[in-house]
Amino acid sequence: TTTRSGRMQPAGSRLIKFFFGEELPFVSHGRGVFVYDTDGRRYLDGCSGAVTANLGHSDPEILRALHEQAERITFAHRGTFHSEQSEALAERLGAMTGYPYVFLCNSGSEAVETALRLTLQYWRERGEPNRSQFASHAVSYHGATLGGLSLSGHPQRRRVAEALLHEFNELTPPYAYRFAEGRDDAEFTELLVNHTAEVLDAHGPAAAGVVVEPVGGAAGGAITPPDGYLQALAGLCRERGLPLIADEVMTGMGRTGMMLASQHWDVRPDLVVLGKGMGAGYAPVSAVLVSEEIIDAIAAGTASVTNGHTYGGNPLGSAVALAVLEAIESRGLVANAAERGKQLRAGLEALARRHEVIGEVRGLGLLQGLELVSDRVARSPGAPIGSLTRAATFAARDQGLLVYPATGGINNAILVAPPLTVTAEEIDLLLELLDASFTSLTS
Ligand code: PMP
Repeated sequence: TTTRSGRMQPAGSRLIKFFFGEELPFVSHGRGVFVYDTDGRRYLDGCSGAVTANLGHSDPEILRALHEQAERITFAHRGTFHSEQSEALAERLGAMTGYPYVFLCNSGSEAVETALRLTLQYWRERGEPNRSQFASHAVSYHGATLGGLSLSGHPQRRRVAEALLHEFNELTPPYAYRFAEGRDDAEFTELLVNHTAEVLDAHGPAAAGVVVEPVGGAAGGAITPPDGYLQALAGLCRERGLPLIADEVMTGMGRTGMMLASQHWDVRPDLVVLGKGMGAGYAPVSAVLVSEEIIDAIAAGTASVTNGHTYGGNPLGSAVALAVLEAIESRGLVANAAERGKQLRAGLEALARRHEVIGEVRGLGLLQGLELVSDRVARSPGAPIGSLTRAATFAARDQGLLVYPATGGINNAILVAPPLTVTAEEIDLLLELLDASFTSLTS
């Protein structure tokens, strides 16, 4: 069977599918911001895969770096060899982000787990091994592994694993559209920080740290905090002596128009988690950036930072991530994300004036989100939750546009997050296709 969007999965496939699995086209190849399916249909990648392919597809420079490294050596375990590639990557990444130490992993989830383990190790070395309670936002996504899932305010994804998850210390998310209830930014920030203080104080000497996405991604759709929030949260953590861990798996690597999203608010978290855009879709590679204070405590102790994952820091992934960093720097992609982000934002706001289904436009740089509602005044997400997200994602695909469904169980949202290499003309085309998608959705 075929749909307007391409071929459906063959009956009898042995492959276990992800969500929407039954209705996906087969991918053929990609060039720049475009992806092609095996029926020859072209899609503008308006979400960089899953906010990952930040340089677009088949980038010649990255492919060259990949081939060159693949021909030398692809794997050497870091328990056996040092590698020049991982050294060079750590050096460059540290210099570009302002962090002295880097731990390399393969996926966002693994890096989140590593940040949690490093924090637990930090407390152990400081003689407080009972500190194990992390707090995180009620609408958030931090990974599919059990540590990351324990922190995730994502009821749909938590459900099956609940029995193995750690206690969830939910913080009110900085999601003004649904939680500010008429408060201005300063009042809302105060409410959020007071609530965070209560949650942390409830755990007293067991509190271990706070984990946040500076801009919420997969669970709520580019949830952008009020200015002042991240600084206030960092201040609270400092007062309590608790590490602040920024999960920048989606927001990092220039996506929001700064190398790290935390930099928009001049906040330097104790640990920063990176993933997705690090390998930019060319290799699975992720990292934890570690501040002096954390590493000092750990290095002074007896335990060592060896609890890694087999492929972590492999030469191939490192060479690819290094080439990605070089491309980000030499092509000015952080500035391009800021500039094209403004264009995209203005265009999305124009669409919101014409399409009632768009309840809010939010985001930073090239991480933009649309909150979708069945009733704009009541801000109703419609029923069942997720159906509008799904409908919008499919309507876009039928127009030849890929957007990312970002529903966390309480709302409907899509992410619009094209590659950082996107041009002004491609943004215009993206907006045209999105306009047509919303027209088709309501007609
Ligand atoms: N943290 C955040 C903020 C994410 O957006 C994601 C992925 N959507 C993850 C962690 C998990 O990353 P991965 O899927 O690579 O394990």
